[in-house]
Amino acid sequence: MKPGRISGVRGMNDLLPADAAVWERVEDIVRSWARSYGYQPIRTPVVEPTPLFARGLGEVTDIVEKEMYTFVDQLNGESLTLRPEATAGVVRAVLQHNLLYDGPKRLWYMGPMFRHERPQRGRYRQFHQIGAEALGFAGPDVDAELIVMCQRLWDDLGLEGIRLELNSIGDSAERKRHRGDLIAYFEAHQGALDEDAERRLYANPLRILDSKNPRMQTLIEDAPKLLDYLDGGSRDHFEGVQALLREAGVAFRINHRLVRGMDYYNRTVFEWVTDRLGAQGTVCGGGRYDPLIEMLGGKPAPACGFAIGLERLIDLVREAAPASDEQRCDVYVVHAGEGAAGQAFRVAEALRGVGLDVVLHAGGGGFKAQFRRADASGAELAVVIGEDEAHTGVAGVKWLRSTAGRDSAGRQQQVPMAGLAEFVVNAIVALGEDDGGD
Ligand code: ATP
Ligand code: MG
Repeated sequence: MKPGRISGVRGMNDLLPADAAVWERVEDIVRSWARSYGYQPIRTPVVEPTPLFARGLGEVTDIVEKEMYTFVDQLNGESLTLRPEATAGVVRAVLQHNLLYDGPKRLWYMGPMFRHERPQRGRYRQFHQIGAEALGFAGPDVDAELIVMCQRLWDDLGLEGIRLELNSIGDSAERKRHRGDLIAYFEAHQGALDEDAERRLYANPLRILDSKNPRMQTLIEDAPKLLDYLDGGSRDHFEGVQALLREAGVAFRINHRLVRGMDYYNRTVFEWVTDRLGAQGTVCGGGRYDPLIEMLGGKPAPACGFAIGLERLIDLVREAAPASDEQRCDVYVVHAGEGAAGQAFRVAEALRGVGLDVVLHAGGGGFKAQFRRADASGAELAVVIGEDEAHTGVAGVKWLRSTAGRDSAGRQQQVPMAGLAEFVVNAIVALGEDDGGD
């Protein structure tokens, strides 16, 4: 009996070769962008102890309430969770390895996150985030740096129309005063609250403000605004961030309803949003989280960071630059006949040794079938090794592709093996120059 096929987990995507090029292009840009701001890479495990998130993110958050992949390690009974975000793990690692011992740190990461959400465009159960965390810096300059850094990434990727929304949620004393008034306000309109809001009314009323329920929007617009409750320190900090953003020419809008999902935030919160992605329009969320390091058992130290949704970012990149950048190789090595296979193997290695991307034909077959493969590979040149070539120490070089302004397709030449690598490199360079050099 033929065994049935097994599909992947819903909401968790395969990255197929046809899509890999745009991902790698973005990842390369991201790496040099992070380096250009002095952020150092950090990689933490995909699995962490569950209490890290319960404590770090707060019990009454969407993520901890209903989105975490949590399971018991059968071997020791420990509760583990697939990371829904990376900030808590990064802070854990920083504390565990005492990375702040010699001063503040700028760190960045990129990798998969897991949330049990309803899959739809821009919302998946395994998705990827690019994030930066500046640990140990208290001033508004670092908040502004992180925001400006995002703007530069959009520019580097050629993206337009991503808008910055900004707010300050103050510190815990300020939120406490606001919270009292907020609860009183919502109590006075209890009939208009939806189920989520009723549940959050006493546990986490601030979160009612970022409800997406259309029925509640007018109610939320008129709710007491946190900014009116900020004291001198928080107010100055927020003013400082805004002044630096104006200095840098980064436009923003103050959004009083922006409160962010995680409990660990304080003062500056921000989101980058776009209209180009349908309902899932938030590309990046971030802010200051001064309380988190102490909440996770560290010596109190301020911190600020952001996380970008990579799938959403790549959707935007695809839309902005619909490049056909499937991976091509430079050379396809075709071979058949007595003694040719070994020779071809050596030739392919020699060509790779001088920096070329080379596919060596595998699986046998006649020259005609092999040339079809060579064409499909996107290679510029085929190197041909037959029985004669193998014996005479000469290889055939055949030009495969013709594009506008070129008359080389179909051209063929015999080249002595000894000078082959150099010949092929020069031929590839010449073709690149024909194309205006790419
Ligand atoms: P949302 O309100 O869309 O659920 P969030 O507040 O839960 O977003 P964050 O935790 O701030 O999102 O994560 C930062 C970014 O990661 C988001 O702005 C988004 O771009 C991306 N992101 C979050 N959840 C998902 C998901 N399930 N699938 C794809 N991208 C996601
Ligand atoms: Mg969410």
